[in-house]
Amino acid sequence: MKRLLSELDLTDIIRCHITDCPCGRTHRVRLLQLAIGPGVVRQLPEHIMKLGMRRPLAFSDRNLTDLARRRVLDPSQPLYILSQAEPSASTASVAEVRAAARSHDGLIAIGSGTLNDIGKAVASELDLPFILVATAPSMDGFASATSSLTVDGIKTSVPTRPPDVILADTDIVRTAPLNLYLAGFGDMLAKITSLLDWRIAYLITGEYYCDEVAVLVRRAASAVLDASHEIPSRSENITRRLLEGLVLSGLAMGLAGVSRPASGTEHYISHFWDMRHASLGYAHDLHGLQCLVGTLETLKLMDAVRQLTPNRERALSAVATHDPDIWAKELHELLGPAARPLIELEMKEQKYHRGPHADRLERILACWPQILEVLDDLPDRERLGETLRACDAPLSVADLKVKEPRLRDVVRHTGDIRDKYIITRLLYDIGKLDAVLVRLYGDRQDASGE
Ligand SMILES: [Zn+2]
Ligand SMILES: [Zn+2]
Repeated sequence: MKRLLSELDLTDIIRCHITDCPCGRTHRVRLLQLAIGPGVVRQLPEHIMKLGMRRPLAFSDRNLTDLARRRVLDPSQPLYILSQAEPSASTASVAEVRAAARSHDGLIAIGSGTLNDIGKAVASELDLPFILVATAPSMDGFASATSSLTVDGIKTSVPTRPPDVILADTDIVRTAPLNLYLAGFGDMLAKITSLLDWRIAYLITGEYYCDEVAVLVRRAASAVLDASHEIPSRSENITRRLLEGLVLSGLAMGLAGVSRPASGTEHYISHFWDMRHASLGYAHDLHGLQCLVGTLETLKLMDAVRQLTPNRERALSAVATHDPDIWAKELHELLGPAARPLIELEMKEQKYHRGPHADRLERILACWPQILEVLDDLPDRERLGETLRACDAPLSVADLKVKEPRLRDVVRHTGDIRDKYIITRLLYDIGKLDAVLVRLYGDRQDASGE
């Protein structure tokens, strides 16, 4: 009997091949092995053998050296430790591991976000089998086919390939710091807003959308949210739900062929902070923690849309005041040299041009009731706030290392990060972006604190 993607559980999804999805596309995943649970690290020697590795290179970072030696590897197995004390996923770290892997026939990364990104990149470049031994539930890149790498100071999503085997031993993961749990929780909460962005974009631009993929991700996010009160105790239950949700989110991007199911406005807020860090040296924080706060800000924006009724004349006259020179100057002030690719993107995309805007506006006016229907699925922010307070999660920028005096300007430019239609673009299109930003964050003087 034919089955829908949303009827499969994670064990089936990692090997699925669905040719008749209602979205019209074929969905296929080929992850060799995924094991999540207590003690699964004991399967490592068996997977090393199955993948034909005779001389694999195991690598990790300084913080995890002890854990890697005591709980993951045989005492006789060599372990390569990255030279940087706090390594980042950059072309330099990839080159370092690539050089270390020269005479080896496989890779084993012991770590999470950064180590996995490096491992995926080196495994793709050298065409080596790759095993990830996960140590924290901190981000959703476990099973994704991209690595988030800093290339020439700019955070870039580089196509790579997922690990062949992912071992997430919950006995090990449960020793991870609470901050990494909250980061993974933030990356899962982000799916609430990214899925809403995707559905709204589909209505307005007609871009590809798969409800089956969306259902899977929404379900995984709810499962995490429902057990979030167990985060402070790092219970087996929440650890498993987080790991499963994060793995699934990475797979969902591969299933859909776009990052839509896992990343929207909230991620662009986080990307903006990362870019300000890389380009101008401003402080930033863990990806998932930034996404968590980005999600709360995005929910405010989405809620604001619900209170509005678009008006054609008002929208057209508001958009007519757009000045490309002022826009580019603002981006330069916010991002320094990192503004350039965003300005180049606009040259190609022309999202601020009047013709395409007028077409989108007609579409928005025609489907406004459906847009409001999508936004009926917004979670109750009051209840969400209580949930977050109960697990000691960050609630605003003030709780992050990011001390962002220009939140208003950052949010205003989220639509410039990628060629994707998101809620701030909708607000711009109906001529209400600036008014909503002033309402939420005060006017420029208040917001900048200058
Ligand atoms: Zn589909
Ligand atoms: Zn993310």
